[in-house]
Amino acid sequence: FPTTKEEVLQAVTENDVKFIRIQFTDTMGIIKSWAIPAEDLEGAFENGVMFDGSSIEGFTRIEESDMILMPDPTTFRILPWRPKEGAVARIIGDVYRPNGQPFEGDPRYVLKQAIAKAAEKGYTMNIGPECEFFLFKLGENGEPTTELTDVGGYFDFTPLDKAQDVRRAIDFALEDMGFKLEASHHEVAPSQHEINFRFGDVLTTCDNIVTFKYVVKSIAAHMGYYATFMPKPLFGENGSGMHSNQSLMKDGENAFFDPSTPDQLSATAKNYIAGLLTHIREFAAITNSTVNSYKRLVPGYEAPIYCTWSASNRSSLIRIPASRGKGTRVELRCPDPACNPYLAFAAMLCAGLDGVEKGMDAGPSTDVNIFKLTEEDRKERGIESMPGNLKEAIDLMAASEFVKEVLGDHVFENYIESKTAQWDEYKAQVHQWELDKYLGIL
Ligand code: GLU
Ligand code: MG
Ligand code: MG
Repeated sequence: FPTTKEEVLQAVTENDVKFIRIQFTDTMGIIKSWAIPAEDLEGAFENGVMFDGSSIEGFTRIEESDMILMPDPTTFRILPWRPKEGAVARIIGDVYRPNGQPFEGDPRYVLKQAIAKAAEKGYTMNIGPECEFFLFKLGENGEPTTELTDVGGYFDFTPLDKAQDVRRAIDFALEDMGFKLEASHHEVAPSQHEINFRFGDVLTTCDNIVTFKYVVKSIAAHMGYYATFMPKPLFGENGSGMHSNQSLMKDGENAFFDPSTPDQLSATAKNYIAGLLTHIREFAAITNSTVNSYKRLVPGYEAPIYCTWSASNRSSLIRIPASRGKGTRVELRCPDPACNPYLAFAAMLCAGLDGVEKGMDAGPSTDVNIFKLTEEDRKERGIESMPGNLKEAIDLMAASEFVKEVLGDHVFENYIESKTAQWDEYKAQVHQWELDKYLGIL
């Protein structure tokens, strides 16, 4: 894949690319995208592309609405599901103010700040996300539904199922776009899937997560299905998580690996875990960013609730997968794929670094099934729970100097304002559950 402006321009000519979709995410992680004709790309590399930031969630006010997007040539990819002649490519960009200053409300900028902080200490971060999603039927008018496309774990025994072809088509498209797939399989819930791609540096991989969601949704739509990354679309079934594998590298070595300790985890790894555990409740509103996210974090569906770490235990918030050496890593299991990955990984990285910097103690691992402990047991062991709903998470975040520093004032304030508005809207609704529960008896 091309990495420089010149290589991109050459690829545009060679592949008969006619349109370039320019992309970035808003604060909530939603892709914003518009197309420019291929002949304008050279100018876009020089001067950027103007857009109106006032209509973007979490960006600017009307009086300072002009924004400039500078395309990042390393993110150029041709969209494989579009025509070969007169092809369409996409490119991800960084947002700047008209005066040439990077825009502090751009989630990619927030992540770059966190990366710079890590670099000061000699660290780079690698991540490997595990994105789960549901594939539902489209309604008569093309609207999303929660109608199933297969019957749960029996998926592989229904060879005539079209949904299987959809996942295959998604796999091919991802490979065309440079993803190295590691596993693609049906998940526990009916109509639920998971596709894992190879880990990489945090910035590239966050770009990949955004691209991944875009590809999955596009191919599904193309084939007459609806793909959703909503964390808990079906009551009574597993939700969709985005387990976040992460490690720090220093001097080309995995800083989490230490063959001389009993569990082969370094002191740095333990400090990093402690940092995540210390701050997770404060930044849960970022990793678990919707009202619906907290319907996933309930007992019985393989999703975490209690803030513990463990080598083996899947009921823990943090699990240490068995692989060691280069593959030594920490898996944070609470994030869901509805989050903005740039902000979420900025928070994870800074939390871990804070633990390393301050030499925080992760305490002993919790290797029992935490769901089987009584509340007193948990209290005695000092085990905290994740916030129970978005409101609790927003309040914890609003009081956090740590999160404010990670996000910067602009994103911090916009985020809290926007999520509070969402919560206020939700809490005033009369839900079906209330009618079912009360209407017949009151
Ligand atoms: N779907 C589960 C969740 O909500 C995760 C299942 C798994 O272990 O992959 O986190
Ligand atoms: Mg899974
Ligand atoms: Mg996992």
